[in-house]
This record gives sequence, C-alpha cells and structure tokens, in this order.
Amino acid sequence: MKRALITGITGQDGMYLGELLVSKGYEVYGLVRGQNNPKLEIVRALLPSVKLLFGDLTDLSSLLRALDVSRPDEIYNLGAISFVAYSWENASLTTDVTGKGALNILEATRLHSGDDLGRIRFYQASSSEMFGKVQEVPQKESTLLWPRSPYGVAKVFAHYMTINYRESYGMHASSGLLFNHESPRRGPEFVTRKVSQAVARIALGKQDKIVMGNLDASRDWGFAGDYVEAMWLMLQQDQADDYVISTGETHTIHELLDVAFHHVGIDDWRPLVEQDPAFMRPAEVDLLVGDPTKAATVLGWKPKVGFEQLVTMMVESDLAEQKSLA
Ligand code: GDP
Repeated sequence: MKRALITGITGQDGMYLGELLVSKGYEVYGLVRGQNNPKLEIVRALLPSVKLLFGDLTDLSSLLRALDVSRPDEIYNLGAISFVAYSWENASLTTDVTGKGALNILEATRLHSGDDLGRIRFYQASSSEMFGKVQEVPQKESTLLWPRSPYGVAKVFAHYMTINYRESYGMHASSGLLFNHESPRRGPEFVTRKVSQAVARIALGKQDKIVMGNLDASRDWGFAGDYVEAMWLMLQQDQADDYVISTGETHTIHELLDVAFHHVGIDDWRPLVEQDPAFMRPAEVDLLVGDPTKAATVLGWKPKVGFEQLVTMMVESDLAEQKSLA
C-alpha cells in the first residue's frame, strides 16, 4: 500500500486529491494547521480514513515530525495562502507560507530521506498566477514568468526551489502550473463561487444583487476534480518534470455571469450586478490561457468538465445548499 502526505488537506484541492488517493488504495495523511481549524470537521466527515497530522509549513521541525509519522512515498504540497487579493494585504505572511513554506517541506523531505532521496516523489502546486503579465499567449512551461502579485512572486520562488531540488539533489520533484480550477468546494472569496452562491441566493429571493470587481478580466477555468488527477499522474512518471494544467480556453467574468444567471432563468443580469473598486486588483493579470499540450502528450491528461458544465454544477450545488439552510 502506497502512502501519501498532503499539505493543505483542508483546501479544495486537498479534499479532491484525498478522495482520489483513497479510491486508489493509498494510505493518506493530511497536514492540518492551527489550534482550532474550522475546516477540520469537514475533512473528518468527508475523508474518515485520512489520518490528520498537526503541523505548519512555516515550522520545519513540525514537518520533519509529520514525515517521520507518515513515511510517505508521495508528498503533495498544496498548502498555501492562496487568495491573490489577500496577498497584497499580507505580502510578508504570504511569502513565508506560500514561498518559504515550500522550501521548508522540500528541505524536510531531503533531511528525512537521508541517502534515499530518490524514493520520495514530490509535487509542488505551482500556479498560472506566476505568468501574471503574460509574455506570450497561450502560456506554456517555457513561458517567461512575470508575477503580478505577492502571491505570484511567492509561487515563483517555490516553483524554482522545486526545480532546484530536482536538479541539485536528484529529487523526484515535479511542479504543476495549474490554471484556475474551481468546484462547489471553492472558497466563496474566489469569483466563480462568489457568483454561484450569489446567483443561487438571488434565484431563491434571499439576496437582491451582487457587488463585483473587474468584469473584463478573463481566466482559463477548469474543474478541480480533473486537475488533481494530473497531480497524481505527474508523480507516476519515471522522470519528474513541470506541466501546465489548463483547459486551453479563456472566458471573461461577463461570460461567467451569463452562464450562471441563465441557469436560473435570468438573462438580463445587468440590473442585479454592481461594480465596486474595492474588488479591483492593484494589478491585474489579463489574458491567462494555458497550453496543456505537454500534459496531454506525456501524461495522457485531458480535462473532462467544460466551462458551462462547471458553472452550472456550482450553481446547482449552491441552490441545494441555500435551500437546505432555508
Ligand atoms: P485568481 O485568479 O486566483 O485571482 O482568482 P479569483 O477568482 O479571485 O479572481 C479571478 C478574476 O476575477 C480576477 O481577475 C478578479 O479581478 C476578477 N474579479 C472580478 N470581480 C471579482 C470579485 O468580486 N471577487 C473576486 N475574487 N474576483 C473578482
């Protein structure tokens, strides 16, 4: 039985990956942070067989302890401060957790494995936000990185550290440059879930309007459940490498609103949407669209859920949730 350690098990991707690895027969360990983590109960209910360990990416000795207990064959570093807008308010903390946290888990892995570093396979959750002010369209593995937020800068540090541990120590360390990926489990601070939740509430008469930021921004949005498959596939390859994971399609916030409102029978959503500069970014990444050719060719990976299906799935889930709250 293979063993895996997931940092960030309480996040959207951690939960989908936990489910995937449990279904493949892995013994799964999840690293949980904090004294009173509110998401702990959700993970316990969803993934009862996953063993939870307490530790923090900013605390090297806690990571060494987690590795000693879990003795993983595969490590998935999904833990991070992941909300771009928040990263401007907390740039230093984001750097410590999202950036240096990745170095800590890489270094803990190296120290833990001693002479047998080749045994452990490591996945780093890199991000399309690293492309920022995009230098070519679509973005691929070789595209020059130009991050436009403290979050993006921290992810670039973690990405190159992962490559450096691979090149310097021969570690089987892969990095997935994942474009935005969403699901009903996405946090409500992200735009897709903010919209699906608000549209469900408006349809049920619980809310009058939604206040948004930049409606012209566009993203390459995929389904998180598809994207965790790509993470696992990367660690099954003989050679560690870096892969762009994306749909190759881009959609604007306008289109997101179109599909979400249309699903509840509202075609003219303009009177229901206000814009507020409070939701605008100091710098925007405008044309994020990834080229997933390498992942398709080498990993045999393709996204299964398209944009409309993703948005309607999220609206349906929020309708059900809002109805259950009555
Ligand atoms: P990100 O790509 O990781 O920053 O994911 P988000 O879901 O937070 O944001 C995606 C895009 O939606 C960004 O370009 C935002 O500027 C834009 N956007 C427009 N209105 C909003 C809003 O009300 N909330 C959020 N989070 N993003 C918004």
